[in-house]
Amino acid sequence: MSLEIVRTVADLRAHIGGWRGDGHSVGLVPTMGALHEGHLSLVRQSLDRAARTCVTLFVNPKQFGPNEDLAVYPREEAADAAKLETEGAHLLFAPGIEEMYPDGAATKVSVPGLGGILEGQSRPGFFDGVATVVAKLLIQAQPDIALFGEKDYQQLQVIKRMVADLNIPVHIEGGAIVREADGLALSSRNVYLSPEERAVAPTLNATIKAVAERFAAGEDAAALSAWAVDQLLEAGFGPVDYVTVRDAASLEPLTRHDGTPSRVLAAAKLGRTRLIDNVAV
Ligand code: AMP
Repeated sequence: MSLEIVRTVADLRAHIGGWRGDGHSVGLVPTMGALHEGHLSLVRQSLDRAARTCVTLFVNPKQFGPNEDLAVYPREEAADAAKLETEGAHLLFAPGIEEMYPDGAATKVSVPGLGGILEGQSRPGFFDGVATVVAKLLIQAQPDIALFGEKDYQQLQVIKRMVADLNIPVHIEGGAIVREADGLALSSRNVYLSPEERAVAPTLNATIKAVAERFAAGEDAAALSAWAVDQLLEAGFGPVDYVTVRDAASLEPLTRHDGTPSRVLAAAKLGRTRLIDNVAV
């Protein structure tokens, strides 16, 4: 079977309805395109878990702030489609802006609390944009499972909360972070890095790994965060939005390791590129 591309909700539903009629389970992998191995690992996970896989490609303007990179965000649909075809994905839903947000569209999905901290604080409105578009995609496609990368760890928690709160009948699955050999998490935004910045970028992962190890060994979270910020500034990052140790599910701050599953999360700018990363303790 080769990859089919659809651009309207009606065509998406017709395809998925056909699969349902044949008794197939459905996996959904939402993306903003410029696909790399991180995205493709989610596609493989979906192909493994469901009989049919639909990938979505939509650069969602509602999750970009006024001073962010919407205008220059990489768009390479033909190359993305070729990669998905090679992986064996079944359907690509690539709607235009007017299909997703027709004139008059007004409804917003918001997840206060989880969506207001960390990334939500650094990027006001970001998680409203994410929650709104993901809710729409889940209602449009009605998959059995939907897959999201741990690269965007807070996003994964926000989406789980939203799905539980709205009783959306889908199972949300996380996928492990895919990294370069030197530790840098793959991201569509890594193409913005200059060669000099690219050489510095792995320091982010190295630093939060050190924080995770030292936190597990009993050191104080606040002192480790302060140390990590210094390390990053010294390496050439700046500003550093946060380096923090959190409860892995609620994302509440932690002070000392007490066995609670926890996660170190960080966000910092490197030149004009904002990088995020996280690791389990
Ligand atoms: P994006 O296109 O950046 O919105 O990402 C689409 C999906 O791919 C999200 O669920 C991301 O968390 C996931 N993703 C992005 N980068 C990675 C990575 N390096 N490893 C695993 N998943 C990723």
